[in-house]
Amino acid sequence: MLDRMHTKATPTHCPYCALQCGMGLTSGPGGVEVVERPEFPVNGGALCGKGRTAPAVLSSRVRLTEPLIRSHATGRLEPATWEEAVARVAEGLSRTRGEHGADACGVFGGGGLTNEKAYALGKFARVALGTSQIDYNGRFCMSSAAAAGQRAFGLDRGLPFPLEDIPRTGCVILVGSNLAETMPPALRYLTELKANGGKLIVIDPRRTRTAEQADLHLAPRPGTDLALALGLLHLVVAEGRTDEVFIEERTTGWEEARAAAMAHWPEYVERISGVPVPQLRDAMRMFCDAEAGMVLTARGPEQQSKGTDTVGAWINLCLATGNAGRPLAGYGCLTGQGNGQGGREHGQKADQLPGYRKLTDPAARAHVAGVWGVDPDSLPGPGRSAYELLDALGGDIKALLLMGSNPVVSAPRAAHVEERLRSLDFLAVADVVLSETAELADVVLPVTQWAEETGTVTNLEGRVLLRRKAVSAPDGVRSDLDVLHGLAAILGHEKGFPTDPEEVFEELRRASAGGAADYSGISYARLKEGNGEGVFWPCPANEDVNVNVNVNVNEDVKENAGGEPDAVHPGTPRLFLDRFATEDGRARFVPVAHRAAAEEPDAEYPVLLTTGRVLAQYQSGAQTRRVDELNSAAPGPFVELHPRLAARLDVGEGEPVTVVSRRGRAVAPARITSTIRSDTVFMPFHWPGEGRANSLTNPALDPVSRMPEFKVCAVRLERAS
Ligand code: SF4
Repeated sequence: MLDRMHTKATPTHCPYCALQCGMGLTSGPGGVEVVERPEFPVNGGALCGKGRTAPAVLSSRVRLTEPLIRSHATGRLEPATWEEAVARVAEGLSRTRGEHGADACGVFGGGGLTNEKAYALGKFARVALGTSQIDYNGRFCMSSAAAAGQRAFGLDRGLPFPLEDIPRTGCVILVGSNLAETMPPALRYLTELKANGGKLIVIDPRRTRTAEQADLHLAPRPGTDLALALGLLHLVVAEGRTDEVFIEERTTGWEEARAAAMAHWPEYVERISGVPVPQLRDAMRMFCDAEAGMVLTARGPEQQSKGTDTVGAWINLCLATGNAGRPLAGYGCLTGQGNGQGGREHGQKADQLPGYRKLTDPAARAHVAGVWGVDPDSLPGPGRSAYELLDALGGDIKALLLMGSNPVVSAPRAAHVEERLRSLDFLAVADVVLSETAELADVVLPVTQWAEETGTVTNLEGRVLLRRKAVSAPDGVRSDLDVLHGLAAILGHEKGFPTDPEEVFEELRRASAGGAADYSGISYARLKEGNGEGVFWPCPANEDVNVNVNVNVNEDVKENAGGEPDAVHPGTPRLFLDRFATEDGRARFVPVAHRAAAEEPDAEYPVLLTTGRVLAQYQSGAQTRRVDELNSAAPGPFVELHPRLAARLDVGEGEPVTVVSRRGRAVAPARITSTIRSDTVFMPFHWPGEGRANSLTNPALDPVSRMPEFKVCAVRLERAS
């Protein structure tokens, strides 16, 4: 049982997922303690086990507290001073740049980095190193949803409405999200929805804890969500449930999208997806009977080699039924990583500059170059996407600086990525523990954690929040901003890389001004106001700022702010109510068609594999695997399979199963359950070693978002001896 927050506690936020639950931190006799922060609206004080136990990583006995340099003599990582370590990293990067050119240096960031760090890392790559080769692990998270949102609405913000709207809508279709395990405090929004008489439809190949809450659960074959959405849209048209007024007044491209959907007969969709036509019809009617509805996607439909089109199909369903651009309705993406939203806005993406600006846009380059005090022509162009960058290690890319990511566990085709990392001339990793990726490094830099530093994050709603420093970092640990400052100075950039996060944020504000993700009206002082509930972007500095995102301020918010917006912009909790962010203000239907997964089952690999997360672990597990309580709850990987499949394999509960794909093999105990389709197995991806699920996954990329196909590949199962 957590205490309620008292005055001595520092209000801050969880280090893990994109919900960014509010919590308070105090120092007690047993170390740092978490207390409830019930006034913070998103979680109302509730925390999952990961958040509750997060302080354990601060004082973990495996915490890194001194830099490590690989010894030429022993080949081992040996303790070093900070001066030696930073000099070694700068030397490794500048030697590579001198011998092979700037693009031989790669930079890999993370969706857990604060906005300030993501911003500074992008600037470091493009200004201090001059390389185009920067991307981050958020590419593996929600990039398909971001691409589809940009394509349809002209703007991507995970949720274009606050979570508090969910209980007041009429029907939610939740596609490929197990939020009961990934972000448990968010389940209350669905519980309240049902208590208010709303309906919940869950689409997932597994009957998860979330699916158990549903009024209707559809369990398609992995990789067929696109066909399913098209089948629903076909039925919407066939039963005359389209919103013709909305289509006429607020959208373009309907005829092409309609024709594409009508080619997907329900019976055809049933053959593809395995979802019976009557269930499809029930789902369509449940959704259309509601006065307003929402579709929320997560990694299930997004982590596919057709992820952008798959999300696009769900957006088309929303648009055709008038469920977008009006209160209590719309499409949203449940972003995964702690700063998955902010991490994609400030310039650590291969194709992007701060403010969600395009790197290829001359005006955007000129604006950001002006803030940075450099010649726009000196800024490199777009680089490779995350998997393509990792795949190029040891080839074109000879040296890598990596912050806040553990691709040895989390990247697709992980054994290959591990081999590529080993083939580098030089690898530097900044992390809080010796992750599996840090183990391969030439230099390891021990950095501060969430509670030891101040910085902003942007949660899945687009709510910008201040995470405050609550405790001192151990001696020997420095922040990522210190690291970038030190490296930049050696590389000839004495100025431009401050170590104070507020100073970085002030520059970020200017860089973002006028961009889609405009933070110019947000300040640290403002984020400390009230209950620290944060500010939704876009939030321009004042009404004179040239905001080109074509969004409107919600009327409720105007009233709450005391009438028409004045010099202090109230932020924008709800987007698109009057117009979408496209040039003509209309949402765009994009015609899409079903296509098979990159790898379908065959005689050699007859079963489908899908992957995901469990309640007590987070992402690659670099932090959560170091917490005893979480390890007791989720000690290792498993292979979830249906009793029929288990019987065919002659394997019993807990017995080891070998899963083999074209890329590798993994061994883990069987977990037999009838809550999964009999043609599919599931593995969580939090662990390294022989149970590493990503040894199996397919790096086939979505052509638009460059998202790998984590969620479906073909495997065979063997009884492990
Ligand atoms: Fe942290 Fe997410 Fe759990 Fe909230 S739901 S406590 S943000 S891990």
